[in-house]
Amino acid sequence: MNAARLQDGTIIVAKDYSPENHGLEIYCMDIACRAPVHFVQEGKKVSFFKTSGKGESVHKELCAFAAKMTFERSLFKVTQFQQELKSQVDPIMVRLNTNKLDPDYVPRSVEREGNNKEVDARELKISNDSPKPPQTVSSLKSLKKLFQTADPDLLASIFISYNGHKLPITDLISDQYIAAKKLWQGTSLNVNYFIHGEVTSIVRLDKVWYFNMGDDRFPFTLVVFEKYFEHFTYTDEDLLNRTILVMGRLKKNDFNKDKFVTEMVIKADAYIEFLD
Ligand SMILES: [Zn+2]
Repeated sequence: MNAARLQDGTIIVAKDYSPENHGLEIYCMDIACRAPVHFVQEGKKVSFFKTSGKGESVHKELCAFAAKMTFERSLFKVTQFQQELKSQVDPIMVRLNTNKLDPDYVPRSVEREGNNKEVDARELKISNDSPKPPQTVSSLKSLKKLFQTADPDLLASIFISYNGHKLPITDLISDQYIAAKKLWQGTSLNVNYFIHGEVTSIVRLDKVWYFNMGDDRFPFTLVVFEKYFEHFTYTDEDLLNRTILVMGRLKKNDFNKDKFVTEMVIKADAYIEFLD
């Protein structure tokens, strides 16, 4: 872990920790855990905190560092850590480029292949020290992999560089309710957002398909227009009752004035990744 919690509840990151100033009674940063941890210094640059695995010094069952978490739970923890770690850690910049998933994207004649290196999340996981140089995430699959393999405190220090914006990773990824709230409050950006949730019903009409992810109070619908049918091969069976991560632009549906109907326009299979 890159951070620990002191006795008074404050968070300390490994690079700022000193036993003289902060004492030896330090704990796992996850408030649900608080297992005693100790400081490890390897060489000049590499330092981190860890449990000993003996006695009390074992992560509790619900701790973010205890076991592999679901995508949703990992996102929840990362959001929590991100608020607590704010300004204490050096941001790790990761470039997000989803152009190639878009059937409408026309590559410029000169494509610099060297820039498209996927994030090696395992490499990130063991780097408890200095941030790696910017790397690129270019598919939902690699975004999912990043969440499944990197430690939550590391994810909390990742900033996404996307279409000219620099955002904490948790600003772009959320459930459908948080995304809809941003849209209707006017605080969302004109970029693709990443939503996790369950497909609850499907309606396929001649010219448009609807995949519903919301409930009656907050309708949230994925929309595929006829033009993109050929790029979208998932059947109803593939999608129904599945938990997915889906990418797309948020759009208000003003047709029904009594309800805040949120739509997300998707264009191809690659806009969806299954989480279950
Ligand atoms: Zn813990």
